[in-house]
Amino acid sequence: MKLDSYWLDTAPPLQAVADAPVQGRVDVAVIGGGFTGLSAALALARRGASVAVLDAGRIGGGASGRNGGQVNTGVAQDFASLVAQVGVERARACYLAYASAVDTVERLIREEGIDCDYLPSGKLKLASKPRHFEYLAKTAEIIYREVDQDIELIGRDRIRDEVQSDSFHGGLLQRHGGQMHMGRFAVGLANAAVRHGATLHEHAPVSAISRNGGGYRIVSERGELDAKQVFVATGPSRHGPFGWYRRRLAPVGSFIVVTEPLAPATLARLLPNRRAYTTTRLMHNYFRITPDSRLLFGGRARFSASEQPSDARSGRILQRGLAAMFPELATARIDYCWGGLVDMTVDRLPRAGQHDGIYFSMGYSGHGTQMSTHMGQVMANVIEGRGDANPWRDLPWPAIPGHTGKPWFLPIVGTYYRIKDIFY
Ligand SMILES: Cc1cc2nc3c(=O)[nH]c(=O)nc-3n(C[C@H](O)[C@H](O)[C@H](O)COP(=O)(O)OP(=O)(O)OC[C@H]3O[C@@H](n4cnc5c(N)ncnc54)[C@H](O)[C@@H]3O)c2cc1C
Repeated sequence: MKLDSYWLDTAPPLQAVADAPVQGRVDVAVIGGGFTGLSAALALARRGASVAVLDAGRIGGGASGRNGGQVNTGVAQDFASLVAQVGVERARACYLAYASAVDTVERLIREEGIDCDYLPSGKLKLASKPRHFEYLAKTAEIIYREVDQDIELIGRDRIRDEVQSDSFHGGLLQRHGGQMHMGRFAVGLANAAVRHGATLHEHAPVSAISRNGGGYRIVSERGELDAKQVFVATGPSRHGPFGWYRRRLAPVGSFIVVTEPLAPATLARLLPNRRAYTTTRLMHNYFRITPDSRLLFGGRARFSASEQPSDARSGRILQRGLAAMFPELATARIDYCWGGLVDMTVDRLPRAGQHDGIYFSMGYSGHGTQMSTHMGQVMANVIEGRGDANPWRDLPWPAIPGHTGKPWFLPIVGTYYRIKDIFY
């Protein structure tokens, strides 16, 4: 078993990463080479700006290359709860922002010819308990009435046509959206940004940013760079001068296992429609079939950070969950196991804008493959002076009370979620 991301391990190599030291002057320095940073670099470079992307590790090696492979529409939290929280107009705007984000991913794949096995399969949210199905039915009614008619509620009598498992009591299908090979998408975005003139630097952690005349000086382990503007796209970064962001995000670990290639006939029986699947528990699972017929099965498993020994422990919990859901896969070999950090905000809505003159976008809360790509494009407009393009511009973003940057509270939240899952 490899303790590595399947997406990164099976991605093609990047065409052009700068070996040269980080130096010179650019219009925009992008810190972070995940989907947010790469998409912004591409949009800016396409318009003729000079752009340098600096990543602490491998381009695409953060959450963008370590996720569940789903490109879903709809908000990260339950739509009915969002309506109750912010009102129907705002909730509708949030939902539609995600629909646009899926469109952005599909558009970039088309425009830049990115070969990433995109499959417009829709997402099926599966009710783990009868009362969860009742709740899904209420949510479906509100979604249908207020914002999206391309959905379908699937009752208990039909759920086995979708998933051959005893674990579910119905589901909600949202057809817009799909799934893709995240490593191929990251490499495709990066190559496109380079083709349009951006420079990419790997293994260049940024350790300081200071004002320098009318612009900024960025200090990294591989050299220093001057930039007119800086865009921070670091997700839940644990390195560098990003304490202001760290105090506003909870870096929650999420973990994934991928099986050996399975018989196509077995998969066609278990999951005939090859959708992106998630479950309704708080300690939920998500799964899908990979392009080479493996089952990818992920979940929160434990509330802990992602590090290799911890990933392996979480992998064993996931393997038991997989066997409970699909008993005939209990003996399937696990070929990959890894974890990553989700940049969670308290209300699970993203945050983007400007802090101390520096632009940022993050906080996608586990629902960000589409939104990070979209926000890269949006923030390119914002950097060029179109602040109204940012759908999240009005959201306040106070620090999480008691959060100094180290998430000491995660085990407490984990215990609370586990207890709630038993009783709710
Ligand atoms: C396990 C897991 C499963 C997920 N599943 C899904 C899913 O199925 N669907 C979905 O929509 N979303 C999912 N997500 C969320 C989604 O992957 C992210 O929201 C999205 O990829 C965020 O992209 P990003 O570019 O903002 O951040 P990242 O991809 O994390 O990129 C940030 C980059 O910044 C770099 N960086 C950090 N600090 C510094 C520094 N000081 N200097 C230079 N570089 C720095 C990092 O090295 C990293 O490469 C999942 C996330 C995880 C962890």
